[in-house]
Amino acid sequence: MRLTRKWKNLRKPLSPVIPRHACGATYNPHVTADFVHQRQPSGQTLLFDADDTLWENNIYFERAIAAFISYLDHRTHTPLEVRSHLNRVEHTTIAAHGYGLKSFRRSLVACFEQLTDNPITEDKHASILRFAQSIAEHEMEPLAGVDATLAQLTTRHRCLLVTKGDPEEQHDKLVRSGLARHFTAVEVLPEKTAAAYRALVTHHHCDPARTWMIGNSPKSDINPALAAGLHAVFLPHEHTWVLEEETVNQPPSGQRLLELAAFAELVHHF
Ligand SMILES: [Mg+2]
Repeated sequence: MRLTRKWKNLRKPLSPVIPRHACGATYNPHVTADFVHQRQPSGQTLLFDADDTLWENNIYFERAIAAFISYLDHRTHTPLEVRSHLNRVEHTTIAAHGYGLKSFRRSLVACFEQLTDNPITEDKHASILRFAQSIAEHEMEPLAGVDATLAQLTTRHRCLLVTKGDPEEQHDKLVRSGLARHFTAVEVLPEKTAAAYRALVTHHHCDPARTWMIGNSPKSDINPALAAGLHAVFLPHEHTWVLEEETVNQPPSGQRLLELAAFAELVHHF
């Protein structure tokens, strides 16, 4: 059903806007769910993504961006055009300053300055920063079934958290989520590349044949992990950030790729 829906999405005319979440997903339609519910033997190493895999994240950015666009209230650019511009600004900011709220604040300010004629006033600057601050203050609520599922998985497997972004922010979110107790190690990477996964596997003495990366992002979780020789579990999230979208690659020979509809389904496979 899930793959059918994606095919339908691909047939729709694409909006000229690039939302922060995916509208024209480019998932590989040949990636199929694994219908063989044969549980992997104990002793696997499970690497978990955090944002939009364990807890909601992008929806809070979506809300802040909607408030920002409304505040900007541009005379000539439509909200959709402002949104497209912000996506481009974010791409540039992240390349220079990395992920996280600090970069997001920079992006909002830069976007505002680029789209308005007058220099930004102190008041306006403070207002813009409040949009970003709203993200830092929301409750950390794990997604459905995450806590109970992790509690089961840790009885059979080694579980590590592998996220990217600002280390302080990511550690703070983990503590506030109440999920920290499930993980034997936490890695906050500046970027999730194949090289970064290879280094992580070496550092934590993981056997690639028994190591799985589990996450919602084709770009950061699935494709680089497959390229590093790991197995992967793709857990699509409806509001995945558009900058995380990419076609899901086929697993190389000998590696496996599962696509599951819900986090709780992991207990049937591991
Ligand atoms: Mg994620």
